[in-house]
Amino acid sequence: MARYKEAVCRLCRREGIKLYLKGDRCYSEKCAFARKGYPPGIHGQGRQKISEYGMQLREKQKARRVYGVLENQFRKYFKEADRRRGVTGETLLQLLESRLDNTVFRMGLARSRSEARQLVRHGHFLVNGRKVNIPSYLNRPGDEVSVKEKSRNLPLFKEIAEWGSAQGTMEWLEVDHEKMSGRIVRLPLREELDIPIVEHLIVELYSR
Ligand code: SF4
Repeated sequence: MARYKEAVCRLCRREGIKLYLKGDRCYSEKCAFARKGYPPGIHGQGRQKISEYGMQLREKQKARRVYGVLENQFRKYFKEADRRRGVTGETLLQLLESRLDNTVFRMGLARSRSEARQLVRHGHFLVNGRKVNIPSYLNRPGDEVSVKEKSRNLPLFKEIAEWGSAQGTMEWLEVDHEKMSGRIVRLPLREELDIPIVEHLIVELYSR
């Protein structure tokens, strides 16, 4: 399965936000973005003039990197969002939020989207009682997501459960951290999503 393999801290610095791609390190003072919060490269600290197209492109790249999605797949999400009824930008974010790896992260059953992706791939999660190991699997309202019974006793999941219960629960989800499971009550509303993305710029980019 294709994935981004370069130094991931550069991505946070490029996008100007913490993407939480390195687990515990992201919450520590070793975080590269906390130490050098400017873009990477020799001109990183200089003044940068950015065109309209440049801004649209940056928003798209930021969204891709937040959710860990490659270009072709992201374009498919956009096409699907455009086809559906409703506000395209919001629908796009709802599709991205519905991915299994994101749902696992949002439920606090993993500490980052990248950790969620890895744990899903390793087959630790069930959706409605059936094993699903595809991070891009799209959840629907009503779906139950849980850690496989055999995996619940692993020290890693105990650590994650402790971390997750301290995070609070998103409005559109129900989570039982003791049972390491949760349910998607409904799709999130745009104002409930804490991601600093200006989605209408992405819509404008793909509508060029
Ligand atoms: Fe981003 Fe900091 Fe995590 Fe690196 S350590 S991936 S810069 S949040």
